Amino acid sequence: MHFNILTIFPEMFPGTLGAGVVGRAHDRGIWTYKVINIRDCAINNYGSVDDEQFGGGAGMVMRPDVLGAALDSIENPGKIIYFSPRGPTLNQKMVREFAGDPDGVYTLLCGRYEGIDQRVIDMYNMTELSIGDYILSGGEIAAQVFVDSCVRVMDNVLGGGADATASESFEIGGLEWPLYTRPSVWRGQSVPEVLLSGHHGNIERWRKQQSDDITLERRPDLIKEK
Ligand code: SAH
Repeated sequence: MHFNILTIFPEMFPGTLGAGVVGRAHDRGIWTYKVINIRDCAINNYGSVDDEQFGGGAGMVMRPDVLGAALDSIENPGKIIYFSPRGPTLNQKMVREFAGDPDGVYTLLCGRYEGIDQRVIDMYNMTELSIGDYILSGGEIAAQVFVDSCVRVMDNVLGGGADATASESFEIGGLEWPLYTRPSVWRGQSVPEVLLSGHHGNIERWRKQQSDDITLERRPDLIKEK
């Protein structure tokens, strides 16, 4: 998978994407990225990429001529995604779809200020995506959320193979069961007996029950979705 990332803060990449399983997957060539500095296409020597809103109002808007030039500099943009609170909220099902093609190419546009001129969104037929109902100062964190969530479901990224992602929250039609590791007794608290029993059938039933209870209590909406 390849990601072209357009930003006015190229120093923010790879950021979180350089560490852990996602960073290692990059080192192994499972995914690649290229950062494009939008300021390279600024309208003047001061590096201006934004301007006042037509119609008035607080805050600046990223200019379509600047963004158009930055986008046109990309040889193969693939699917163009603009991170925006106005898009549908990213969820695990969408992540699976985006990550479905290991040769997929995505261009990720990180907005700043109040956002970008509507004509660029229309002209390039962009897919708008939100990462939740709150406002960030820019799309860079959203872009890292997108890449991280897509890469970790790709084949050979997590140890443990397909099992490692298939048993996680949202993949199992609900939330994950409680997890425990050594020591088996910690500050007087024991691990649930069944997990030490070695009886796989009982363990599986216990986990399923825990998962159902927690999901019903915390996220009943996920059960309705099933
Ligand atoms: N004026 C906009 C918010 C702009 S925030 C509005 O009211 O909808 C500046 C930039 O941060 C946006 O252009 C977008 O790229 C990014 N951003 C902010 N919140 C986001 C979210 N929840 N999901 C994805 N991107 C977001």
